[in-house]
Amino acid sequence: LVTTADVAAAERYVEDVLTRTIERSPGEPEFHQALTELLPTLVPALAAHPEYRRLGILERLVEPERMITFRVPWVDDAGRVQVNRGFRVQYNSAIGPYKGGIRFHPTVNASIIKFLGFEQIFKNALTGLAIGGGKGGADFDPKGKSEMEVMRFAQSFMTEFYRHMGPDVDVPAGDIGVGEREVGFLFGQYKRIRGGFEAGAFTGKGLGYGGSLVRKEATGYGCVYFVEEMLRTRNRSFAGSRVVISGSGNVALYAAEKATQLGATVVAMSDSDGYVVDPDGIDVALMKKIKEIRRGRVREYAEARPNARYVPRSAEIWTVPCDIALPSATQNELDLSGAEALIAGGVVAVGECANMPTTLEAIRRLKEADVLFAPGKAANAGGVAVSALEMAQNSMRLSWTFQEVEENLKHIMHSIFRTALATAGQYGVPGDLVAGANIAGFLRVAKAMAAQGVI
Ligand code: GLU
Repeated sequence: LVTTADVAAAERYVEDVLTRTIERSPGEPEFHQALTELLPTLVPALAAHPEYRRLGILERLVEPERMITFRVPWVDDAGRVQVNRGFRVQYNSAIGPYKGGIRFHPTVNASIIKFLGFEQIFKNALTGLAIGGGKGGADFDPKGKSEMEVMRFAQSFMTEFYRHMGPDVDVPAGDIGVGEREVGFLFGQYKRIRGGFEAGAFTGKGLGYGGSLVRKEATGYGCVYFVEEMLRTRNRSFAGSRVVISGSGNVALYAAEKATQLGATVVAMSDSDGYVVDPDGIDVALMKKIKEIRRGRVREYAEARPNARYVPRSAEIWTVPCDIALPSATQNELDLSGAEALIAGGVVAVGECANMPTTLEAIRRLKEADVLFAPGKAANAGGVAVSALEMAQNSMRLSWTFQEVEENLKHIMHSIFRTALATAGQYGVPGDLVAGANIAGFLRVAKAMAAQGVI
């Protein structure tokens, strides 16, 4: 039985770890934000498990096992030497090898990598598979770079990073700016340096060399499956709903594809320059052609469709009225004013397909307005889940059919939803999927950490 003294002690413990961790990581606002969102929701779990306080689980959990920073020098097409900074946080390996993507984007810094790595621990735990938490990246801007520049950069990145990874150590994958092409360059260099074909050392690989079917679709599809389950609790569904999806990268494209397959009309999508509104519903095949094949901009989509219009201000995409909003671009893209706009437009549900796309104030406002909210740690876990299935297939040296992997993904997403909902109920915060997901992920990792001693 949990006493009020236990709750008070858990509150003090959480507050203390939160304050000290923030103090010890100055200048890392995104990391602070992730901690502030997550830690307070763990109070009921820590009240019920005083032994986790005694074992210092939380202060160990917030401290990465290892944080690697390295120089990435490369030569551009003009023959100039360029230097970028590479990162990998190996955050927690209690339940499996470090697992998480690599991001190439000019905004990448220690704060971004730490928040992403921290969230990855809980997300990966929620999948129920044996994967720990990690994340990496570089402040390299792929925009405007030639294919050969991207290749030389990726090779240089891997020439340093290879020594820190491996199928049972740390298994990277893609993220923003790292798609199949970049994974190919990174994996190729890893293979060359290692002198052996370690397929399970990297996920998101091409289908011709150890990749898994459905990996490309997994994050977007998975997010839609999760949100569909959440909608069901209010007798709603994607069928007949209007959907706004920010972004037009891998996650956004396949969220749009699955939402459309389920009978929704995707009315708007965006990139960093602006957004398009298509009242006829986004033609996903056309958008894929522009984004995946031509590496173009969403503006070109509006030019190709008679009823579509382009607005050169991406942040305003939330003013497009919709039933379901799926932020699928990047962190903090949906702020308080975006939340207000969505509420004014009659939104019923928000599903985070990206990592931490919603600010704390926006989450609070959406909750107040009784909007269903699917937290990214749970809703976007489909990508990393299918990565773990890719590792499984690599170990078995065989590959499953599209249908087999998709069934598996659907099953995992439904089970994450049920776990988050049940855990919220069990820990006294019924219906709160944010707290439910955080607690469920935490308990799995905490139990494994407790069993392995103070390490
Ligand atoms: N970058 C994705 C994520 O944020 C996928 C990671 C992976 O497949 O390892 O979860």
